[in-house]
Amino acid sequence: HAKHRGRNSFDWFDPQMGEEMRFRTQFENQIREGMRKREFVPFYERQIDLQTGKLTGFEMLARWKSPTLGLVSPEIFIPIAEDIGAIAELSELVIRQALEDAREWDPSLSLAVNISPMQLRDPWFAQKLLKLLVEANFPPERLEIEITESCLHQNLTQVRSLLTSLKNQGIRVTLDDFGTGYNSLAQLRSLPFDRIKIDRSYVTSVGSDADNAAIVHSLALLGKGLNLPITAEGIETADVLEHLMQYGDLKGQGYLYGQPRPAGQLGEWLSDAALARQGSGESPIALSATSL
Ligand code: C2E
Ligand code: MG
Ligand code: MG
Ligand code: MG
Repeated sequence: HAKHRGRNSFDWFDPQMGEEMRFRTQFENQIREGMRKREFVPFYERQIDLQTGKLTGFEMLARWKSPTLGLVSPEIFIPIAEDIGAIAELSELVIRQALEDAREWDPSLSLAVNISPMQLRDPWFAQKLLKLLVEANFPPERLEIEITESCLHQNLTQVRSLLTSLKNQGIRVTLDDFGTGYNSLAQLRSLPFDRIKIDRSYVTSVGSDADNAAIVHSLALLGKGLNLPITAEGIETADVLEHLMQYGDLKGQGYLYGQPRPAGQLGEWLSDAALARQGSGESPIALSATSL
């Protein structure tokens, strides 16, 4: 007890910190238990060809359906899963489920999954991913891996060899959240990415912020010049969509097209894809309004 340890132990031991540590431990245990109970599930966000309004595929975004906390964002549980060494297992869990879900979609639709920086450091990552694909009997050509720009900093060498082995298997790799890291264009060019996704922080305000509009427009032109396809994430309004459509041939995603949904609720989106803009002269805006 503190009494026996003497005064000094009180000087550094902050009871508030003890509280936080207890909470943290509880949270970690809940995550482990949630994994055992299959509470981690994939949700899906539509990815759209902005010019045609057609669905091109889905990005899988993991969710934790916690019985006590409700729907928990990956922004919260991914870093903790990394800390406790559970990220590989958790990721495998949701990717396996996603491959199963995506097998039911039209084979022209792609599946994008996010991979965290820590997983990239695993020298067996490509091998493990391939094993999942084989087990699910899922064509590698339909899979896209998303890597956030910020993780290129420490991992450049590993990322380069990883990209090479993934590409050799037919898997495509997208640079996610572009504009949030500090990489030179030369550096990016030295990595064989198949696509670049412009971060939401630039896209969302394209209609109201001239600087961001200039940045996104330039990136669209750059992508065209380099023959590097570009996606804009975080499209929230029809106004932003209209701007983006003027910038060139982009893919896009965002809440304008609906919030991410579980596999069981994609039905209407999957059939919308078939109907999209066929004859009716329906714009992508009208299309999204019916689905929101
Ligand atoms: P991200 O890959 O950049 O995904 C986009 C995030 O922005 C998603 O948040 C999505 O729900 C949200 N979003 C999409 N459109 C809009 C919009 O129009 N406006 C706004 N305000 N937000 C929008 P989410 O699902 O919370 O995911 C956060 C991040 O967690 C993802 O960022 C991704 O990096 C990571 N993540 C998600 N699933 C996984 C996973 O299975 N494994 C790993 N390692 N990371 C994951
Ligand atoms: Mg992503
Ligand atoms: Mg992103
Ligand atoms: Mg982002």
